[in-house]
Amino acid sequence: MNKEPVSRELFDNVMVPNYAPGSIIPVRGEGSRIWDQDGREFIDLQGGIAVSCLGHSHPGLIGALQEQAGKIWHLSNVMTNEPALRLAKTLCDLTFAERVFFANSGGEANEAAFKLARRYSWEHTGPQKHEIISFKNAFHGRTLFTVSVGGQPKYLEGFEPAPGGIHHADFNDLESVKKLISKEKTCAVVVEPIQGESGVVPADPEFLKGLRQLCDDNDALLVFDEVQSGVGRTGHLYAYEMYDVVPDILTSAKGLGGGFPVAAMLTTAKVAGSLGVGTHGSTYGGNALACAVAQKVIDTISQPDILKGVKARSDQLRSGMMDIGERYDVFSEVRGPGLLLGCVLTEKWQGKAKEFLNAGLDEGVMVLVAGANVVRLAPSLIIPDTDIEEALGRFEAAVKRLTA
Ligand SMILES: *Cc1c(COP(=O)(O)O)cnc(C)c1O
Repeated sequence: MNKEPVSRELFDNVMVPNYAPGSIIPVRGEGSRIWDQDGREFIDLQGGIAVSCLGHSHPGLIGALQEQAGKIWHLSNVMTNEPALRLAKTLCDLTFAERVFFANSGGEANEAAFKLARRYSWEHTGPQKHEIISFKNAFHGRTLFTVSVGGQPKYLEGFEPAPGGIHHADFNDLESVKKLISKEKTCAVVVEPIQGESGVVPADPEFLKGLRQLCDDNDALLVFDEVQSGVGRTGHLYAYEMYDVVPDILTSAKGLGGGFPVAAMLTTAKVAGSLGVGTHGSTYGGNALACAVAQKVIDTISQPDILKGVKARSDQLRSGMMDIGERYDVFSEVRGPGLLLGCVLTEKWQGKAKEFLNAGLDEGVMVLVAGANVVRLAPSLIIPDTDIEEALGRFEAAVKRLTA
């Protein structure tokens, strides 16, 4: 086995240069603490980008993984398996869904959702009803279809031609959707209830309600991309519950496996009917190990006291960040529900979000950015309040130094 020591420098010699990772290499985590190769400790407010919803080394997740690892890992979809069936049943019991398709990443779950939307309209209406309406600044993944439906042109640059029939409206602007939607051509409207990557921008409740109505009026499917907003992040199992707007298709990933790669597309029995035998698939989708871990995540997160705890932790973190923001004049606003928070930089600090991330690392706290103007926080949903307090202290030290 290769046990040679490795360092960050090796990245540039062996990895495709599509990422720019930080200089430290974390090697161990427990709860909301992480240690790097040199034994330096960090408080983790990144949560693996809204993935590690139960923190690191959660005993329940380790137990679920180890138990399944000793039974059976993989069967392919030539056979079904017990963990996949149980997880699908659980997701149907807890949500609007009646049918579930498993995938391995958010992009893959969205790919399935967009293909299903097209196939459904093709089957029930005809091939002309294939247009997808999504939103500027949206993020839906990096496959060619999902990056085309996404609303950040820079991610598509050089990869064209993109799939056709995709239109981008303005987020939180119903009128802009009305101009694009039609009964003849539109098969789906795709939206993140809270735009994550582009700066933690929540949809207005009236906007999502209006989209539901527009979709109903035009026989189009409403697709919620809850890859980032799902699995307890908002203090609800899924954000659609908070908005009281039920989609036809919902995608879930990131937090679903708590760090183990797994994703799901949830939908109704009627819509699911359009992905008949042989129309779509995934070798690893519904993998027994992945589903066993996700089961433990969902069983844990869906407890009312955990979801209520998200609200309390959110209040603590939000008021702490607003306080720092005001005292050092760095944040104009802290937005987002639950434990998906976007701290919006003031005029003076525009474009400098990355500096806050780096200053945080120097003080032993890991934060995220979302674009160049927003510091994003997406910690474990069960981060202890003492860790939040200490993280705020470290972040304040970082801001103090940055603004000195
Ligand atoms: C992260 C993200 C994706 C992509 O998920 P991957 O697992 O990276 O493919 C899609 N949609 C949203 C809203 C996301 O935040």
